[in-house]
Amino acid sequence: MRVAVFGAGYAGLTLTRKLERTLPTDVELVLVDETGRHLLQHQLHRVVRRPDVAEDVLLDLSDLLDRASLRVERVTDISPADSEATLASGETLAYDLGAICLGTATNFHGLDGVREHAIPLLELDDAERIHAEFPEDGRVVVGGAGLSGIQVAGELAELARERDASTEVVLLEQEPAVAPGFPRAFQDAVATALADEGVVVETGAEVDHADDETVVLTSGTDLSYDQFVWTGGIAGIDAIDDDRPVVRRDLRLTDSTFVAGDAARVVDADGQAVPASAQTAIAQGRAVGTNLTRLAEHGLSDDGGFEPRLTPYVHESRGWLVSVGDHAVAQVGPQVLTGKAAKAVKTGVGARYLSNVGATEKGLELLLDEFGP
Ligand SMILES: Cc1cc2nc3c(=O)[nH]c(=O)nc-3n(C[C@H](O)[C@H](O)[C@H](O)COP(=O)(O)OP(=O)(O)OC[C@H]3O[C@@H](n4cnc5c(N)ncnc54)[C@H](O)[C@@H]3O)c2cc1C
Repeated sequence: MRVAVFGAGYAGLTLTRKLERTLPTDVELVLVDETGRHLLQHQLHRVVRRPDVAEDVLLDLSDLLDRASLRVERVTDISPADSEATLASGETLAYDLGAICLGTATNFHGLDGVREHAIPLLELDDAERIHAEFPEDGRVVVGGAGLSGIQVAGELAELARERDASTEVVLLEQEPAVAPGFPRAFQDAVATALADEGVVVETGAEVDHADDETVVLTSGTDLSYDQFVWTGGIAGIDAIDDDRPVVRRDLRLTDSTFVAGDAARVVDADGQAVPASAQTAIAQGRAVGTNLTRLAEHGLSDDGGFEPRLTPYVHESRGWLVSVGDHAVAQVGPQVLTGKAAKAVKTGVGARYLSNVGATEKGLELLLDEFGP
C-alpha cells in the first residue's frame, strides 16, 4: 500500500511527521514537494525588512523526515477520482490513500492591471523583491489587510523608519475592518497597532483596477504609488483546476483522497468559513493523519468488514496572533494582548511549532533572534 502526501507546508509536513509514527510499517509513505524545503510562510514578511533572515525561514525537508521518501518534483495534476497524480517529469504517481496539501496561489480577482503591476507575497522571491524595490520616498500601497497584508505593511513602515525614509505606507481593505473574519476585539487592537506604526489604513476601500502608477478604487479615488504589493486573497492552485474544494467534515474529498490546509475550503459547525491560517493547516494535518491511518489499517486488515468511522474535524481556535512591525497583537481566549506579552506569545508559538516538526535548533535561533541571548 502506498500513501502519498502532496505539499510540505504546515499541513503536509505535520501530516507526514504524524504518519511516520502511526502508519503500519509495511505501508510506503511518499512526500512530494516542488521545493524540497519547508517555508515558514507565517514569518515571510520578516524577510521584507531583513533579507538576511531568509535562511532562517527555510527548513530542509530531508533533515526533518524519518521514514517517508521525499520526491522533489512539481505536481502538475491530481485526479482524486483515479487516485493518481501527474508529476512535471511526466511520471504518473498512483496512490492508495493520499492528501492534497498544496496550499494556494494569489488571487488577483481578475482586476485589470493588478496581476501585471503588483508584487504578491507568497514565496521567498516575492519578499526579497519587495525589499529590493522599496522606494526611499513616495508611497507604497498594500492591497488587502488579512494576516499577510497587515504584517507586510507593519514591516514596510519599520523599514521606512530604519532608513529614515519618508515613504508613506497605505493599507487598503475592502471590508469595514482590517483582519476580516477575525474577532472584533482583535481587529480593533490590530487597527491601533497599525496606526501606532504610522501605517495609513483605508477600510471600505475596494480596488477596481491599477496601471503602472495608480491604483483606482471603485469609489473613483485614485492613489498614485511607487510600489504596489498585493495581499488581496487566495485562490486554488492549477494542479487541482484552480479550485479550493469544499471537503466533508472528515476532510475527505473522495474515498482515497483528503485535502488539508489552505488548499481546502472548510466551514465550521456554524457554517462559517474557517480562516486560512498556519494554525488551521497544522490542526487539519493532524486530523487527516488520524483518519488516514485508520483507513490504512483497515485496508491492510482485509477482513471485509465495514470501513472504520472517521473523526470529523472540529475547528477550535486557540486564539490569534499577528505581528505589526516590532510589536504584536495576540488574542488568547477573550483577552487581547499587545506589546511585549503578545510578542512573547508569538515567539513561543513559533518555537513550539519548530520543535514539533523536529527543527529544535531553529526554534532556539528564533528565540535568540527575538529576545537576544
Ligand atoms: C506573509 C504571510 C504572513 C502570514 N502570517 C500568518 C500568521 O501570522 N499566522 C498564521 O496562522 N498564518 C499566517 N499566514 C498564512 C499561512 O502561512 C498559511 O495559511 C499556511 O502557509 C497554509 O499552510 P498550507 O500547508 O495549507 O500551505 P503552504 O504552507 O502554502 O504549503 C504548500 C506546500 O505545497 C508546495 N507546493 C505548492 N504547489 C506545489 C506543486 N504544484 N507541486 C509540488 N509542491 C507544491 C509548496 O512548496 C509548499 O511547501 C501568513 C501568510 C503569509 C503569506
